[in-house]
Amino acid sequence: MAKTKAKTLRQIAIYGKGGIGKSTTTQNLTAGLAEHGKNVMVVGCDPKADSTRLILGGLAQRTVLDTLRDEGEDIDLTRIMKKGYLNIRCVESGGPEPGVGCAGRGIITAIDLLERLGAYTRDLDYVFYDVLGDVVCGGFAMPIREGKAKEIYIVASGEMMALYAANNIAKGIRRYANQGGVRLGGIICNSRNVDRENELLEAFSKELGTQLIHFIPRDNVVQHAEINRKTVIDYKPGSKQAEAYRALAKRIEENKKFVIPEPMTPERLEEILVEYGLFDGIEDYAI
Ligand code: ADP
Ligand code: MG
Repeated sequence: MAKTKAKTLRQIAIYGKGGIGKSTTTQNLTAGLAEHGKNVMVVGCDPKADSTRLILGGLAQRTVLDTLRDEGEDIDLTRIMKKGYLNIRCVESGGPEPGVGCAGRGIITAIDLLERLGAYTRDLDYVFYDVLGDVVCGGFAMPIREGKAKEIYIVASGEMMALYAANNIAKGIRRYANQGGVRLGGIICNSRNVDRENELLEAFSKELGTQLIHFIPRDNVVQHAEINRKTVIDYKPGSKQAEAYRALAKRIEENKKFVIPEPMTPERLEEILVEYGLFDGIEDYAI
């Protein structure tokens, strides 16, 4: 009998400011990987629990926290993990009621339970953690703090707050990278149609010591696909946008550049924004 080659599982965390496009990008990129025959699991680590709806065709995915609360500890893996588009496995950690307890607690509970129920099977090529948060702390740092995900991508755009958040996230990554094996694999630009956005993101990434791994255009087809509860790859496989997501998937597949990021000071970030014409400079505020 032919021996099957053991696979190396890549566990990847996607960080970025709320609303920047983490879930949209993650689901489209994992659809691209699945088209390539890769076995993928997506773990939504956002109390909003909307990280997997495009892959599941809008099917309501019960969160791990809700399931545990309603059914107790003695549950089957199929209760918390559903298969969607091209057999992508989907989990939503969920979170406590707003204002009650640490919002990151669900992530810790979900990963522990997934391990206990044997979700990390040997046939998996990738696990993606879609993590909410402008800062990497508490439960939101869990996927990288505990050494689950060793590889991180930050979703950003040319908007100042997105870059500010990305720089803060890089600070958090640096802290954990110094203690363990976690590395930054690159910045994904999810475009907001800011002037000279590509160049700005190139410069920003270089300053962090990393790379702009891919530029995803802003396109209304994303909204059309979303209304139809699908990824763009599923909804309009022949579109340019679908190609952009496939290209991102390929860049991640082939990525060899993993670094400990070098976050910049707020002053240096402003200098870069000034250089690319995004910001008129400090003198505006000095009057
Ligand atoms: P996050 O997970 O970071 O909070 P989402 O992935 O939910 O952000 O994205 C927020 C919204 O932005 C989505 O509802 C989607 O319609 C829109 N969006 C994301 N990426 C794009 C894009 N490339 N082009 C157009 N709209 C986008
Ligand atoms: Mg999200």
